[in-house]
This record gives sequence, C-alpha cells and structure tokens, in this order.
Amino acid sequence: DLVTRTNVNEVLKNTLVLAEIRAHGTEVVFKHELTPLLPDVMANEEQLKQVFLNILINAIQAMDKIGTITISSGYEEAAGKVRVSFTDTGPGIEPGNIKKMFDPFFTTKANGTGLGLTVANHLMLSWNGVILVESKVNQGSTFTLIFPAVKG
Ligand code: ADP
Ligand code: MG
Repeated sequence: DLVTRTNVNEVLKNTLVLAEIRAHGTEVVFKHELTPLLPDVMANEEQLKQVFLNILINAIQAMDKIGTITISSGYEEAAGKVRVSFTDTGPGIEPGNIKKMFDPFFTTKANGTGLGLTVANHLMLSWNGVILVESKVNQGSTFTLIFPAVKG
C-alpha cells in the first residue's frame, strides 16, 4: 500500500464520476467547490479513493433519493493543511452516534458492514490526517478530512 504524493483534487474527480453513477436515477445533485492548485498530500491513491467513495455513498444512502452533496477542497496555508469536505442535506446523525460511527460493525443499514468509516479513520490516521464530523439532526452532516500538506 504505497504512500506517494497525491493530489486530492485528482482523486476527487475520479471518485465523483463513480458517485454520480451511484446516484443516477435519483434527485441527488453534486456541487463541486474544488480549490485549484492545491499542494499534494501523502496517501495511497487507491485507498484514498475508497475513503472518498465510502463517504459519498454514505451521503447518497442517508439522503434517500433527494438532496445536495457539496464537495469542497481547500488549503489552510498558515497551518500547512489540505482540507476536503463533504456536506449532505440528509437526516443528520444523533449526537450519541457520532463517536460510534467509527466503531467496527456500527451500522444503521439493513445490509451495512459498518466498516467504511472505521477503515477511513484508520487510513487517515496512518497518513497523519484526521476526520472531523459535524452534524445537525434534520439538517445534514459534514465530513471533513484534514491532511498535512507536502511542502515544495
Ligand atoms: P455502513 O455504510 O456499512 O453502514 P459506515 O462505517 O460507512 O458503515 O457508516 C456507519 C454508519 O454511520 C452508517 O450506518 C450510518 O448510520 C452513519 N452515517 C455515515 N454517514 C452518514 C451520513 N452522511 N448521514 C447520516 N448517517 C451517516
Ligand atoms: Mg459506508
């Protein structure tokens, strides 16, 4: 699982194609707010794609066929961090479930594995990054991924 210099915008663009296919036939719309010319991050590209895709599929499933998913990327220069965030207009997450979501096998879906966010969190930590979640019941959720930016 080779970790190399990776451009999050490139990986997002590849992943969004797959997510849009998943949402085909629904009224889920995607808004892209990617900041151009981001510094690279250190990650495994295939694994990063899986992390993004799981968050996007979770959002599509949470919204039950209608809503908006906003994908944004940015660079916090002073902190040296690259940020990717995914905001959905879904049902949100009960405060008591926010921590549990990262536990292995925690799922609220009939056919869920409950492993997507567990794996995503472990991968992000292995790349010295973090995942933050903000959510309001009946309003939606935002998953934010923060990575150290590669200098130069
Ligand atoms: P799975 O998708 O197999 O259920 P995950 O680890 O990907 O496993 O997600 C765990 C749980 O977190 C989901 O079952 C769901 O209850 C909750 N969850 C994840 N993303 C969202 C979201 N965008 N909105 C509401 N709930 C979410
Ligand atoms: Mg999932």
